Amino acid sequence: MRMRHFEDGIAFARKKDEEDVLFGMRKRFCIQPGELYMDGNSLGMASKDAKESLYHVIDLWEKHGINIWEVENSKYFLYQNFLGDRVAKLIGAKADEVTIMTNTTVNIHKGISTFYHPTKERYKILVDDLNFPTDRYAIDSQVKLKGYDPKDAVKVVKSADGRLIDEDAIIEAMTDDVLICFLPAVLYRSAQLLDMERVTAEAHKRGIIIGWDLCHSIGSVPHDFAAIDPDFAVWCSYKYLSAGPGAIAGFYMNSRHFDKEPGLTGWFGNKNETQFQLRHEFDKDPTAHGWQTGTQPLFSMAPMEGILNIYEEAGMEQIRAKSLDITAYLMYLIEEKLSQYGYSIGNPREDSKRGGHVCLEHEEAYRICKALKENHVIPDFREPNVIRLAPVALYISYEEVYNLIDILAEIVETKAYEKMSHERSLVV
Ligand SMILES: *Cc1c(COP(=O)(O)O)cnc(C)c1O
Repeated sequence: MRMRHFEDGIAFARKKDEEDVLFGMRKRFCIQPGELYMDGNSLGMASKDAKESLYHVIDLWEKHGINIWEVENSKYFLYQNFLGDRVAKLIGAKADEVTIMTNTTVNIHKGISTFYHPTKERYKILVDDLNFPTDRYAIDSQVKLKGYDPKDAVKVVKSADGRLIDEDAIIEAMTDDVLICFLPAVLYRSAQLLDMERVTAEAHKRGIIIGWDLCHSIGSVPHDFAAIDPDFAVWCSYKYLSAGPGAIAGFYMNSRHFDKEPGLTGWFGNKNETQFQLRHEFDKDPTAHGWQTGTQPLFSMAPMEGILNIYEEAGMEQIRAKSLDITAYLMYLIEEKLSQYGYSIGNPREDSKRGGHVCLEHEEAYRICKALKENHVIPDFREPNVIRLAPVALYISYEEVYNLIDILAEIVETKAYEKMSHERSLVV
């Protein structure tokens, strides 16, 4: 593990900000005065660049009506190609292996339905028990559609401690009856980053198709898909990637599967050249865009153009380097200054095993989060006892992290959380 040197005190935090090569990116984001936004892993902060590209498309609609599809050399009819090529760079994939469409949940359906052709011998889908629930709902329903019972056909690797998944246990569970393995790259609660390359290689050794959910890694952890070489992947674009609430999601299909028939098809998956011949025979696009279905939502895509400008200027390697450093700084401060208040760290410590957020545990996590909001801090609570803190590299400063620690200490010291209700709100 890389040794880092940190010190207590605001002067040290300010020195770190002065040395931060990404500090200048902050002014591109819509930072709200007086607010500490620690929830960029749930919904990334708006940026001026994203707003600008969105307003541009709204203006084009106003001016051109139906002709919006053809202006700028048909850029908006082909927007998924144009933006997909750029997103592909974030994960080291080939340009035509990535498209953007729908949401993560639907893209899981698209990926699984393409590969799930069960036989008596091979019919199981291997998953873990810590993934986000929607992934599981999608997989269970795909299994049911083929007449199988998820209790039998969905094989679940259990976490030993409710925080981490053991890669050896996943590999051990890759038995001959497993057809597909589907896992998160980074676990949404504990921030554990799985060794994707190793797990993918082990799956392939056993003839198993493997898909990855990058929701909690895209835009925070660089991936090298050329080396990992998985079969498919999905992700959302509204977390670290900051493309806006409900922003269009991502989809990766390895080029070796371009000849496969998509499980769900639609006319936007047709070759562009023959799409408007409106024939009843599907003429599949020979790339990842063949998995497209219907008319693309331009307003859910446009902010991505702006935010990608920021990503390309900053570079994924720099983003990851700062993310690892600022989360390490946060962990250092938690251990130095918060242990006495009942706080502890629930994420892995090694750089190679953690994503972009810190999993802060406390038995009063829910009420502490409520008290944080009263203090103009936007945290993220996850049942039962986790406060997720994401010091997003592009817009969070070391000084903000330092201030956050003081607020966390004060809430427990003054028992401010005791005034809060235990009752859960609709969106926690
Ligand atoms: C955020 C997240 C989702 C969200 O799915 P949507 O279809 O975009 O609502 C799915 N899976 C994981 C692992 C996530 O972290």
